[in-house]
Amino acid sequence: MVPDIKIDLHRLRDILSKSLELETLSMRDVTTLINIDDPEVWEEIFETARRVKERVYGRRIVLFAPLYLSNRCVNNCIYCGFRSGNVGAKRKVLSIEEAVEEASFLSSRGYKRLLLVTGEHPSVSGVDYLEGVIDAIYRRTDIRILHLNAPPMSVDDFRRLKARGVGVYQCFQETYHLPTYRYMHPSGPKADYEWRLSVMDRAIEAGFEDIGMGVLLGLYDWRWDVCALIAHSRSLIKKYGFGPHTISVPRLQPAQGSMLDAPPHPVSDEDLKRIVAIYRLALPYVGIVVSTREPAWLRDELIMLGASQISAGSRTSPLGYVNGDDTEQFEVGDRRSLEEVIDRIVSMGLIPSLCTACYREGRSGERFRELSEKGLIKRFCHENALLTLKEYTEDYADGDRKGYLSRFLVEEARKARNGLFERFREIEEGRRDIHI
Ligand code: SAM
Ligand code: SF4
Repeated sequence: MVPDIKIDLHRLRDILSKSLELETLSMRDVTTLINIDDPEVWEEIFETARRVKERVYGRRIVLFAPLYLSNRCVNNCIYCGFRSGNVGAKRKVLSIEEAVEEASFLSSRGYKRLLLVTGEHPSVSGVDYLEGVIDAIYRRTDIRILHLNAPPMSVDDFRRLKARGVGVYQCFQETYHLPTYRYMHPSGPKADYEWRLSVMDRAIEAGFEDIGMGVLLGLYDWRWDVCALIAHSRSLIKKYGFGPHTISVPRLQPAQGSMLDAPPHPVSDEDLKRIVAIYRLALPYVGIVVSTREPAWLRDELIMLGASQISAGSRTSPLGYVNGDDTEQFEVGDRRSLEEVIDRIVSMGLIPSLCTACYREGRSGERFRELSEKGLIKRFCHENALLTLKEYTEDYADGDRKGYLSRFLVEEARKARNGLFERFREIEEGRRDIHI
């Protein structure tokens, strides 16, 4: 049957205007988008995704770095360098001292938000260890928020971590396709598909309103998995009144010790752009996270069309910042430092943000959504981005770079509401962590 392009375009415009009104799309809308192939039509979709992102978050791009605590793992995910069957890998579990050392190193570069990442192993998966690390980093460094990407756990364990001040709990389903999931996760606790699928319900029951989801792109047909993730998100929204705070778009990378020579279902650069745009349109409030798995040029494009958070200067091995890379979890595609990424974002007319305010001010879950609907999150994000960039400029930039960033800030402050210059002055006088 020849598709009726006219009707498709008419329907497409309806879908795009729903997204611009910040409505969550139906599964029928999502499948319509996913099945579009015409590159010209995609240009229109990308442009809408860019506008939707602008409407929710403004021009700010949030920056963070991962901090790998351990590469010990009892699972054998066949695509991962940390898998138990990779007998050649050097194993390392950071002591609390070493974790603080890594966090201090990152803090000395200007980071305020870190994502703790760990394999699944009795030596680290017990929450005693994580509690110790989290307490020590908060107490002894300038890091303001710690997010966590760790294996699924019980409601009681989640409660303990929430009480320690973890921001987002992140866990990727990898694939929703059960036969593929079984093949990719042959042994260890992660082989239990149901335990992983229900993890967000347990995290939410324990009080986490900011949850981060994702599928590992390349394991199975991305169209199927992206639909499944959106369906899962919609079911959480229906049940709890809010869905994922963030969705990550990890694309399978080569890893030393991986059993996969190549992704079984390759995801092209163009596909990745489409995936980011589909998430942005389907779930307008969600933060979309792009990691340094992707090359610099592609990350630059992705932040223009819908991604709102990126990692920078990442190392994916425990003690990787202090000692350099050893056993990496996967190959990093963008090796630019935080400095370089900040400068690039500014040159693109966007605003690099080191803000951590929402998590600490209780703007999460349903409340975050309500504020977004009123257009308020964008206001918070914009001002806080400028305030944190001002702090960064004072504390970490010098010479020409300080001049360039200061001029950018003055231009932006002129466009912003009253009071920003005054707060800039307070920052120059030494006050820190000013936010709304
Ligand atoms: N061990 C925990 C788990 O598996 O949920 C959390 C940490 S694990 C290091 C974080 C994520 O890295 C996994 O959920 C997976 O999506 C991703 N990952 C693993 N191997 C990868 C690879 N070769 N390329 C890209 N991402 C990978
Ligand atoms: Fe372990 Fe996570 Fe790697 Fe699987 S993806 S082997 S659970 S670190």
